[in-house]
Amino acid sequence: MPRKSKRAVIIGGSMSGLFSAAFLRQIGWSVDVYERSPVELEGRGAGITTHPELMEALAASGAGTHDLGIEVPKRFAIDRQGRITGERPLRQILTSWDRLQRLLRETIDPAHYHLGRTFTRVEQNGGGVRVHFADGGTENAEILVGGDGIRSSVRGAVAPEIQPQYAGYYIWRGAPNEAELAPKTLKEIFPYFVFYLPPRQEVITYPIAGFNNDLRPGHRRYNFIWYRVADAAQLREMNVDENGVQHEFSVPPPLIRRELKAQMLADARDIMPEVMLDCVMKIPQPFITPIYDFTAPAIVFGRVAIVGDAAANARPHMGFGVAKAGGDAQALARALRDHDDIDAALKAYNAERQPIGNIIVNHSRKLGTHLGVNLRTEEDRRMHALLQSDEAMLDWIAVPNFLDAYK
Ligand SMILES: Cc1cc2nc3c(=O)[nH]c(=O)nc-3n(C[C@H](O)[C@H](O)[C@H](O)COP(=O)(O)OP(=O)(O)OC[C@H]3O[C@@H](n4cnc5c(N)ncnc54)[C@H](O)[C@@H]3O)c2cc1C
Repeated sequence: MPRKSKRAVIIGGSMSGLFSAAFLRQIGWSVDVYERSPVELEGRGAGITTHPELMEALAASGAGTHDLGIEVPKRFAIDRQGRITGERPLRQILTSWDRLQRLLRETIDPAHYHLGRTFTRVEQNGGGVRVHFADGGTENAEILVGGDGIRSSVRGAVAPEIQPQYAGYYIWRGAPNEAELAPKTLKEIFPYFVFYLPPRQEVITYPIAGFNNDLRPGHRRYNFIWYRVADAAQLREMNVDENGVQHEFSVPPPLIRRELKAQMLADARDIMPEVMLDCVMKIPQPFITPIYDFTAPAIVFGRVAIVGDAAANARPHMGFGVAKAGGDAQALARALRDHDDIDAALKAYNAERQPIGNIIVNHSRKLGTHLGVNLRTEEDRRMHALLQSDEAMLDWIAVPNFLDAYK
């Protein structure tokens, strides 16, 4: 009798769930991915900085890097008048969340990707898991993989005490269409990774593909991110929507209050260089992302392993979240390949990746000191002072190989 393959139930059909499915299949496991969204996921035009680790994970997973995105030749910072204040030659490929999801989604047999299935709880019996869904269904497997993001219900089921913390700042985001930008914007900033850094704020822009991964000139978009400071009370007030309904974490883009958008545009007129203001004015539907982070003291709980944002979530200053998701999934599969005993394998996964999660989150907190929020230690204050220079920000924000410094 051929040996029945081992089975993993994976919760979350985004980056870490799909990476986990791809790598576990490669070692002969049978996998099913359960995603709560009833419709295919889409990324609201979110841009993603790539890193060598992400390229490696995409190649190894079978997703590949075909038509991944747009390469910029350099990055620079500008002042209010649009003059360049610092510049670095740095080739980087900028992609989009949608492109990555599409590439990864193609690695899995549609029969094993289940939309509209919401995880609710898990029972463990030592040798495996019984996973329960909101529709009353259950699935049995040797392991449960939680790839269900920063507010992971899987993590909530096994370690409810681990809660993301608000960083004290948020982002206005959006992606105006290349075709609508002014000629000056297209010429001066569109082809590049650009920073504008007024006190306690950060504007970061770079080109990404257009709808349906359209990479043709004239059809692309420009990723726009504007970090701003707000305390918890201010954030709570911003989380009241157009209909007066209070949301816990963020307001769905179409429901953001008109007066908040109007205030944002007025502030942009007050401080932005002409080319950046042009971008803000042309964002079809700006949206707000409050920044949270956390680390977890463990990322394995019996036969439950958590990966990606569910396991540790960094502030997005390095643009490394998807690379981390790929690295977690790869390490999990490698540990299960190299150990006959599943529990020993999960222990090895925890030992390898939990400390890396800590390093990534702590590094992102260092970079976040630029915004001057909650500077608790002498090192925070030193880092904050260092990052007040545009040149330093060019050297630290979203650069490749930052993890080498910790090896
Ligand atoms: C402003 C910003 C900029 C960023 N920029 C970059 C960047 O440049 N580069 C980069 O690499 N990363 C970036 N990131 C981070 C990146 O987007 C995340 O790290 C990545 O999406 C994490 O993938 P994930 O699969 O772990 O979690 P998610 O993408 O959050 O996916 C979790 C999935 O689980 C599903 N789910 C949740 N609960 C359940 C449940 N109970 N049952 C079933 N399914 C469930 C959700 O619907 C979702 O599809 C950025 C993030 C932000 C906020």
